[in-house]
Amino acid sequence: MDFQKFNLHPQVAAGVKSAGYATPTPIQEQAIPSVMAGCDVMGLAQTGTGKTAAFALPILHRLMQGERGHVRALIVAPTRELAEQINESVNQLGRQTRLKSITVYGGVGVNPQIEKLKRGVEIVVACPGRLLDHISQGTINLSKLEVLVLDEADQMFDMGFLPDIRRILKHLPQERQTLLFSATMPDDIRRLANDILTRPVTVQVGNTAPPVTVSHALYPVGQHLKTPLLLELLHHTDTGSVLVFTRTKHRAKRLGEQLEKAGYKATSLQGSLSQNRRQAALDGFRDGTYQILVATDIAARGIDVSQVSHVVNYDIPDTAEAYVHRIGRTGRAAKSGDAFTLVTSEDAVMVRTIEKKLNAQLERRTVEGFDYSIPAPHKDSEFARPPREPHHRKPQAAGKPKPSGPGAGVAHSGPAKPAGQGKPQLHGAKPHPGNAPTARHPQRSPRAR
Ligand code: AMP
Repeated sequence: MDFQKFNLHPQVAAGVKSAGYATPTPIQEQAIPSVMAGCDVMGLAQTGTGKTAAFALPILHRLMQGERGHVRALIVAPTRELAEQINESVNQLGRQTRLKSITVYGGVGVNPQIEKLKRGVEIVVACPGRLLDHISQGTINLSKLEVLVLDEADQMFDMGFLPDIRRILKHLPQERQTLLFSATMPDDIRRLANDILTRPVTVQVGNTAPPVTVSHALYPVGQHLKTPLLLELLHHTDTGSVLVFTRTKHRAKRLGEQLEKAGYKATSLQGSLSQNRRQAALDGFRDGTYQILVATDIAARGIDVSQVSHVVNYDIPDTAEAYVHRIGRTGRAAKSGDAFTLVTSEDAVMVRTIEKKLNAQLERRTVEGFDYSIPAPHKDSEFARPPREPHHRKPQAAGKPKPSGPGAGVAHSGPAKPAGQGKPQLHGAKPHPGNAPTARHPQRSPRAR
């Protein structure tokens, strides 16, 4: 199937062509006809599935008819980076349409936004806080809104934005089309969907499984040896752009600095940076100025960096969903990518949760020649376990601390595939000694289905 079947307005179809999209992704195939028919849509899709175009194309198509110069479509996103990214996609796909789209978020001056709103735009991509400011100041007129998109609704919930969303909804016309996209469906999002969607069509892809093109591996290691092991991994791996996740902002910053000191073109992206510096880090990562970007979940959520070859979980995420989101950054659009996760003994419970979610066992690997026996320094050292940053999700059960070291807490698991299969880009890495398949854990493919 190709895009012609949708009968998009020729100027929108031209945008699809210039973006280089030949075949619609599954979410686009499912969602575009329903959105074009004017239905409310509940879209269950993670980032990387092509969901932005799934709502952007029908919106652009719709806006080709009717009056211009006022806000007719509003897309609400949890983070500034995601808002920028959506706006870029809308502008790219709508290049021939002369429709105007702008972003509205905090951390940058309000006046340029007011100016643009005054001059007249048809599409606004906004983060909730600044949007509410504009609403309360009367600097945005949403009375002629036709389409509302809430993107990454579960993330907005995680970040505590649902009350803001409900406040925003009070200022929108009742008569409108509403599209709600979420990777997961916690109760609060289900309730929100029930409240705001009218006879929605539900479209779902992937069941939040990660892209099949990603191969996953775990690297058991003591907490204090994570940075040296990461350096060793990077040294031995043929990588393109690498996205590294840490649990806290502080760790992202520090690890970024450590990698830079070690000679890598690395930078970090964390919530406490000014908007300009966040954007510079992101742009630099996209254009190759930086090969490595270290980020926290919130800072990196929804970021589309199509060329990421490796995702490294320096710290294991707090939930299996977050794991899926993180590794969704690699293996996009049928490219292959690798996901490495450094795990300590304390991560055993989360490892099992992730494996359950993926319905696969992850291969354990060690790095040949790496000295795993170096003892942990004093507790107060910089290698001490990080404090968890406040998180809105329910905490997962934590494993009891056990002695750390390679394989501690995970040695029971078997490899998902024999060593050497998949993408053996890592020279010197071999399956972890505790990898032999057991009756309890028969061999299964690591690739998510
Ligand atoms: P998204 O899930 O919207 O963040 O999109 C993920 C990536 O897939 C982006 O880089 C898009 O430009 C790309 N993409 C979206 N739709 C298609 C398509 N039909 N064909 C190829 N690439 C696509």
